[in-house]
Amino acid sequence: MRIDKLLANMGYGSRKDVKKLLRSGKVTVNGESVKDGKFQVDPVKDTVLALGEEVHYKEFVYFIMNKPPGFISATEDIQEQTVIDLLDPEDVIFQPFPVGRLDKDTEGLLILTNDGQTAHQLLSPQKEVPKTYFAVINSTVTEEDRKVFEKGVTLNDGYQTKPANLEIIKSGIYSDVEITITEGKFHQVKRMFEAVGKKVLYLKRLSMGPIMLDETLEAGEYREMTEEEIQQIH
Ligand code: URA
Repeated sequence: MRIDKLLANMGYGSRKDVKKLLRSGKVTVNGESVKDGKFQVDPVKDTVLALGEEVHYKEFVYFIMNKPPGFISATEDIQEQTVIDLLDPEDVIFQPFPVGRLDKDTEGLLILTNDGQTAHQLLSPQKEVPKTYFAVINSTVTEEDRKVFEKGVTLNDGYQTKPANLEIIKSGIYSDVEITITEGKFHQVKRMFEAVGKKVLYLKRLSMGPIMLDETLEAGEYREMTEEEIQQIH
């Protein structure tokens, strides 16, 4: 690939900035100074130094975030804070986007990547990737509800959901549950409980396919996926 593209991808500024950097003579490839942006490099085999630092090329980035409430799952918004606002500038340069949406008030696992194909695989309705949520419900969740969810629930727009697994952790005036769904309709979990006359008071995603929320991440924190996690979603 071209050296100017590699440097731009790796966060060395705009095309203009990269041109200036190259002209300054502070970029070397395998020890030789390179000033021409068109110069071809092999991002894996060649040793590229910019400003004396080695440039480790990566095309794709994969992050696991513990999404806090109050942020929307979008890359930009004129009014609201987005999950991208929670990223370090050196990660934003890779232009990651959230894989699917969590509601503004929903917390928990959000995957962010710039790998469109993998994101598509995780979101494709045909793949039926399971997503598990912890939820607090405003009333008593019953065995009857569990059976209804197991068959599929009719939502307020007439849509019949696919079977969902409901695990009742604690049933009482308020109930704690874990629910696993394999689709991602708008406000799906909230609407499924509405369909049985109940309200979700708190919602947190625990997993998406093989990827689990990293409980060591505070709300609003994120980390890069491990090699193993990256393998699991490919
Ligand atoms: N279901 C919902 O209702 N909201 C979410 O954020 C995710 C699933």
